[in-house]
Amino acid sequence: MTTAAVIVAAGRGTRAGGPLPKQWQALGARPVVAHALGAFRALPDLAPLVLVLHPDDFARARALPEAAGARLVSGGATRADSVLAALEALAADPPAHVLIHDGARPLVSAELIGRVRAALAEGAEAAAPGLPVTDALWRVEGGRVAGIADRSGLVAAQTPQGFAFAPLLDAHRARSAAGQDAPDDVAVARAAGMQVTVVPGEARNLKITTAGDFLRAIRELEGGMEVRTGTGFDVHAFGPGDHVVLCGVAVPHERGLVGHSDADVGLHALADALYGALAEGDIGRHFPPSDPQWKGAASEIFLAHAAARVRARGFRIAGIDLTLVCERPKIAPHAPVMIARIGAILGLDRDRVSVKATTSERLGFTGREEGIAALATATLVAP
Ligand code: MG
Repeated sequence: MTTAAVIVAAGRGTRAGGPLPKQWQALGARPVVAHALGAFRALPDLAPLVLVLHPDDFARARALPEAAGARLVSGGATRADSVLAALEALAADPPAHVLIHDGARPLVSAELIGRVRAALAEGAEAAAPGLPVTDALWRVEGGRVAGIADRSGLVAAQTPQGFAFAPLLDAHRARSAAGQDAPDDVAVARAAGMQVTVVPGEARNLKITTAGDFLRAIRELEGGMEVRTGTGFDVHAFGPGDHVVLCGVAVPHERGLVGHSDADVGLHALADALYGALAEGDIGRHFPPSDPQWKGAASEIFLAHAAARVRARGFRIAGIDLTLVCERPKIAPHAPVMIARIGAILGLDRDRVSVKATTSERLGFTGREEGIAALATATLVAP
């Protein structure tokens, strides 16, 4: 049984912004419609492939490698008329089935196309993907909620929509003869009495309408969000003094911490975690200890620099977790102000900043109160 595919790309929609209709705007290295065409071309037993275009777009389409071998058909005034033009182009040598797909849905998968075809092969006269509606649905009048729709049994319509060819052509001819329009081919088929089987749709199979949809599609194409994790570890020894600086907060103690800068072991571990997540070395690489200008420096400078590197590399900080290891001073009473200080330096809400402490049960150098150790983890995400 032959199955033809029709990609409908004749619309002039520019709601997504930009000078070109959305299906001709670039998504990655190729126009949106090239992604859709490529998905169908990759299935060699689907033929012929028909691309319905606005007359102005024929030259653009001929330049696409994905359109090689496709039949280019001039669309009509409405989407329904464009589909009818494609069906008429197939009518001389009719296929058994036809799949009709929106050119503005670039991320259609082979599995989804396969589900529609399988339903047709099992005898359905029409089959289309639907995605269950999960958000509540409101009817809004004058900016206010006027009613709440029952979403049970509701699905959002997707494409490709598949049909037995002959009855769909008849249905579209009847619609056109009656001077009627239709939002999609399922509506045309149902008006002619055809039964439409619903197969599971895919959230990824989004229809590009707005600029935000382009961002979503790019994220999907690139395999979703990139996540990086970095760790940092630091130690400073106790020496003479009457306070220690931890996480940018001066904490009274009978000794101080020894170091080239202010010896803020917490902020050093955190900065190293951020540099580590970026694979950009550690504090010493960015602020060499041999450079006298960092002597006695407030370590907030280092953390702020690491955070600026995170932003410059296109990441944001999803969260940080810091553990200070010491017997004394007690950290817990100071933790809230430490969290606020780190949050201010990094521009993070306090629910993304964790500062906690532990003793080492009097074991080792921290147990003997020779110094303080700190361990940090940072998680970065992009975009
Ligand atoms: Mg240090």
